[in-house]
Amino acid sequence: MAWVFLCPNSLTRYLSACGCGKNTVVTMSKEFCKGLLQSEELYKYILETSVYPRQPEALKELRNITCNHPEAVMATAPDAGQLMGMLLNLVNAKKTIEVGVFTGYSLLLTALTIPEDGKVIAIDVDRGSYEEVGLPIIKKAGVEHKIDFRESEALPVLDELLSHKANEGGFDFAFVDADKENYWNYHERLMRLIKVGGIVVYDNTLWGGTVAKPETSTSEWRRGGRKAILELNQKLSADQRVQISHAVLGDGITICRRLY
Ligand code: SAH
Ligand code: CA
Repeated sequence: MAWVFLCPNSLTRYLSACGCGKNTVVTMSKEFCKGLLQSEELYKYILETSVYPRQPEALKELRNITCNHPEAVMATAPDAGQLMGMLLNLVNAKKTIEVGVFTGYSLLLTALTIPEDGKVIAIDVDRGSYEEVGLPIIKKAGVEHKIDFRESEALPVLDELLSHKANEGGFDFAFVDADKENYWNYHERLMRLIKVGGIVVYDNTLWGGTVAKPETSTSEWRRGGRKAILELNQKLSADQRVQISHAVLGDGITICRRLY
């Protein structure tokens, strides 16, 4: 399967180490493909040794189909997803929130991991990619009943949840992967929705490595996100309500565990 990914950035062409299947020739931005590692071979090694062999079939299928999507690069990196699955298990997550669904890679992963009577409130401003790409696979995997999809901006949904006192501390886990400018606004709300001991994971918190480079060497289209992520990282670092770990998986994820 050959596909072309267009990204307003310098393009490179090579055999896939992007989580899109072993023999796929892809054309996409280098900074995404190798994750944040300096070596494409090393990223490929990690995926092929530790991630792909353990990936459930449904997730593999969803990733392969998502690879044909023009915005395929938005899907959660498989190595970051693998850790997310473990964190969900570690906190015995039953009720979760997902901000930013796209075709549903992280959503399917969550739905496969939580128990039969678990529920994930999945929020996205646009349900198109979810319905077209993710939903048929989610249905086939038999986990649709665990998903409560809300097509909306995320902030009003989180505020609505907070308007019911019973929801305070009512969730075990959240994954945030939508508009970076609002990450801190999501955090303030999630600190009330997630229980003490629960976990919130923020995606893309190293923003292609640009957080450690001068703004001038960051492509124009990434500057807004870079600024938001820099501010978020500072604020999370100073936030005593959470224990954090800034992990170099995918495009960088920050794991926050609510302490009080
Ligand atoms: N977690 C997904 C990737 C999410 S990509 C995966 O694993 O594939 C980001 C998504 O956030 C997009 O689908 C976009 O429509 C959505 N989004 C952007 N701004 C949003 C907002 N303000 N509220 C809710 N969703 C938003
Ligand atoms: Ca992401």
